[in-house]
Amino acid sequence: MTKIFDDPGQFADEALDGFVAANSQYVARVDGGVVRATEFPAGQVALVIGGGSGHYPAFAGLVGAGLAAGSACGNMFASPSAGQVYRVARASQAGGGVLLSYGNYAGDVLHFGQAQEKLNAEGIETRTVLVTDDIASAPLEEIGKRRGIAGDLTVFKVAGAAAEAGLDLDEVERLAIKANHHTRSLGVAFAGCTLPGATEPLFTVPEGMMSVGLGIHGEPGISEQPLPSASELAQLLVDGLLKDKPETAGRRVVPILNGLGTVKYDELFLLFGKIEALLTAAGLEIVEPECGELVTSLDMSGLSLTLFWLDGELEKFWAAPADTPAFRKGSLAPRRARSIESLAETGTMPALAASPASMAIATTALEALKEARAVVVEHEEALGKLDAIAGDGDHGIGMRRGVDAAVAAAEKSHAAGAGLEELLAAAGEQWAERAGGTSGALWGAAVTAVGRTLGSKDAYTAADATAAVNALRDAIVTLGKAEAGDKTMVDALLPFADTFTKAIDDGGSLAGSLCAAAEAAARAADATADLTPKKGRARPLAEKSLGHPDPGAVSFGLIASRVADYAASIESR
Ligand code: ADP
Ligand code: MG
Repeated sequence: MTKIFDDPGQFADEALDGFVAANSQYVARVDGGVVRATEFPAGQVALVIGGGSGHYPAFAGLVGAGLAAGSACGNMFASPSAGQVYRVARASQAGGGVLLSYGNYAGDVLHFGQAQEKLNAEGIETRTVLVTDDIASAPLEEIGKRRGIAGDLTVFKVAGAAAEAGLDLDEVERLAIKANHHTRSLGVAFAGCTLPGATEPLFTVPEGMMSVGLGIHGEPGISEQPLPSASELAQLLVDGLLKDKPETAGRRVVPILNGLGTVKYDELFLLFGKIEALLTAAGLEIVEPECGELVTSLDMSGLSLTLFWLDGELEKFWAAPADTPAFRKGSLAPRRARSIESLAETGTMPALAASPASMAIATTALEALKEARAVVVEHEEALGKLDAIAGDGDHGIGMRRGVDAAVAAAEKSHAAGAGLEELLAAAGEQWAERAGGTSGALWGAAVTAVGRTLGSKDAYTAADATAAVNALRDAIVTLGKAEAGDKTMVDALLPFADTFTKAIDDGGSLAGSLCAAAEAAARAADATADLTPKKGRARPLAEKSLGHPDPGAVSFGLIASRVADYAASIESR
């Protein structure tokens, strides 16, 4: 249980402020995360890492000389937004290009990917290396689908040391990819973790049992077994990882035993002793190991073992010095403090003085967003529970944060006299910015796209309405790349769009067509219970999800139905 906070909604931000206050010789706060507080040479590659908060020392704790140049810090367990990543990278870079590196999660991939596009478009050369070390999350043949867990550290360390050594972006990228291919992890949990303000843990492990293969967001494990002895646990972890040894592995290996939250150091050391003996007995040479908390999961009781398989160059960069708040190795020459430019917020400014007719339409859009918010609030808890079955349990809270921010932004632009396009642009941007998670990026892009398609006019035709629905569909499909049957919100979205277009073509009214489309979406959302996920965080736990509908499809159906009811209530006035 997380006990220390004033307002759970502000937990991540306030914790980050305090972290910076406690480490001001290392890091400085910028909009979206933290950057190094010390100078580094112009032309050096900037390693920018990041992810959800709640994993300290990942990610902000790894910013400093010899390691990361900056970290984008999302909300609790939620990806930072594209805007956050972009602003942190801008503030971090020193003219040598940017390497983005982070654990492989759908939400992070979307947001970091959008930021990368924007940075490249502005002439800041930016590449990405995903960390995919978790052997429990996908089989070896599908290594690119694996999640990133404690192996983050080896990839970041090698990339950071290579940047520190003055290597160029091509080389830093190559070494980071190689480090990732040489890193394998396996985790276990004894009890779940609880988000600040929540009364229930994200998942539970039955008394006397252990869950094997969990993710660091509380995604449940792939199997459960009776709690083993320390020697049996060491054997399970070592056996699992040796079976998954990379083909190119040599004999020199770095073991990293990582505590996930509430396992005590003494317990970790006891276990480490047994692991060391097993690795040595297997003929391996142990090099500069780590044993402690490196990537955590709030108050989760659990641990993971990572094996980092060395070759000559990887060993050199692993052993190189680093000096960060949470990870120190060797010694570096002292660094001078640098001045941090404060980056202006990049909010969308509403264009003023829309016509009265256009403003009236914008008022309707604002009311529709409020209806969406109401239905999300009503179902917040249920959506979270649904997501916890096979995902990370944050769909309710993420949708709530997103739609709250969207309504607030829409209200602000409405008060400033904005028309429909500006109002929806502001709402979409803030939805993506504040929600975190995959669904936040998708909903944000969708709302913005609808605004762009409709523009700010005095009146709309049926053809405008179908164009807007098509824009909504295309924005989500283009960004998320999910297909029908992947068990995502797209499975509710496609029937929604098809039914709407057909109903309008048949001469239906706007409200009537929306109601028919929403019914089709809700039905299709229910039917996703029979599918197994192929995209997003639920994918590694495909079987667990069978029999339960996809949370994103369900929330899509709920929002569509509520907005359709609202349209019907206006039409009947
Ligand atoms: P996260 O998965 O990052 O925790 P949420 O829990 O808020 O984000 O949202 C999960 C939902 O997002 C899923 O139930 C699914 O409907 C949707 N989703 C995940 N990946 C995709 C994708 N690539 N395309 C469309 N929808 C997706
Ligand atoms: Mg989720």
